[in-house]
Amino acid sequence: MIIDSYNRIHNYLRISLTDNCNLRCFYCMPEEDYIFTPTSKLMQPDEIETLAKIFVREGVTKIRLTGGEPLVRKDAADIIIALSRLPVNLTLTTNGTRLHEFMDVLLKANVRSLNISLDTLQAHKFCVITRRDQFKTVWDNIHLLIKKGFHVKVNVVVMKGLNDNEILDFVEWTKETPVHVRFIEFMPFSGNRWTSNKVATLKQILEKVEEKYSFISLPHQKNEVAKKYTVPGHAGTFAIISTMSANFCGDCNRIRLTADGKIKNCLFSKEETDLLSALRNREDVAPLIHQSIGSKAKELGGQFTTNFELIQPENIHNRSMITIGG
Ligand code: SAM
Ligand code: SF4
Repeated sequence: MIIDSYNRIHNYLRISLTDNCNLRCFYCMPEEDYIFTPTSKLMQPDEIETLAKIFVREGVTKIRLTGGEPLVRKDAADIIIALSRLPVNLTLTTNGTRLHEFMDVLLKANVRSLNISLDTLQAHKFCVITRRDQFKTVWDNIHLLIKKGFHVKVNVVVMKGLNDNEILDFVEWTKETPVHVRFIEFMPFSGNRWTSNKVATLKQILEKVEEKYSFISLPHQKNEVAKKYTVPGHAGTFAIISTMSANFCGDCNRIRLTADGKIKNCLFSKEETDLLSALRNREDVAPLIHQSIGSKAKELGGQFTTNFELIQPENIHNRSMITIGG
C-alpha cells in the first residue's frame, strides 16, 4: 500500500504521456514560446509499462493517461494496449480531437469511461481558448463515444468573463444527452494568466444553475473530487470540481507521474522525485515512490492558503499544467 503521513491511501496513478499538444489552451500552456520535451527525455513505452507494474504491485488500482494530449503520441495505441493488460481500471483524459482514430484501441483496451475537455459550446470561442479551430471534431467525437456506449465526462474550466455565461447551456445539454459535465474551478499554474477574480466558485456556479433549474445532489463516493448533481428528468448529470474554494485534499488518493518520469505527489507540489533516472540507473524505484508520497503535504502542495483570494500567483513554484499532466 502507498500511504502518506495523513493515512491517505494512494491507489490512483495519473501518467502523463507527453507535454506536447495539438491545442494551445491559454490556461494550460504558457504563452512564451514553449519547447516540448525531447523524446529521449520522455518515458518510453517499455519504461511506462515497467513503472506502471511497480505502482500496481505497490497498490495502484486505477490508471489515467493524460498529458499534454496523450493521443498525439505516435505510440499511444501501443501504450494503451500494454497498460490494459494490468489489473487496473484504465482511463484517459483527452482533448477529444483524435478520438475517432482510437475507437478500436479503446474498445480493445476495455476503456469504457473517458474525460474529454470542452470549455465552450461555441465554435468561435473554442478558437479563442485553444487557438485552434477544432470545435466540430471534438463535438462530433463526444457524440460518437456516447453513441458507442462510453461513459463520457466533459471537463469545463469555468473562467469569469469568458465562459461563465454558458453554464446554463452546458446544463441544458444534459437534458437529452447522457453526458456528464464537470465544471472545474480555474487553477493557478506557471504562466497561465490566473487571477482570483476569474475563478467562478462552486457556490457561484450552483447559484447560476438555480436560476433556471431545480437539481438534486447525487451520492458522493470516497476519493471522488467532483460534487455531483442532476436535474431530475435529465439524461446526464453535472458536477463541480472545487479545488480553489472547497478543496478535497483530505480524501486525496492521487499520484502523478510526469511525462519525463517524475513523481509529483500533488498537483501543486514544488518537489518532484525522479523515477525515470532511477529506473535507467537500475535502482529500486519502489522506495522512492513511498518516500515521495510519505512527504506529501496536507493540502494544496503546502504552497498556498485555502483562501484562494489571497493567493499571489507569482509566488507559486510549479510547472505549467501541460507539463504536469492534469
Ligand atoms: N489534453 C488533455 C485535455 O485537455 O483533456 C489532457 C491534459 S489537460 C492538462 C487535463 C485537464 O486539465 C483538462 O480538463 C484541462 O481543462 C484541465 N486544466 C488545464 N489547466 C487548468 C487550469 N489552469 N485550471 C483548471 N483545469 C485545468
Ligand atoms: Fe492541450 Fe489539454 Fe492543455 Fe488544452 S488543456 S493545451 S488540450 S493539454
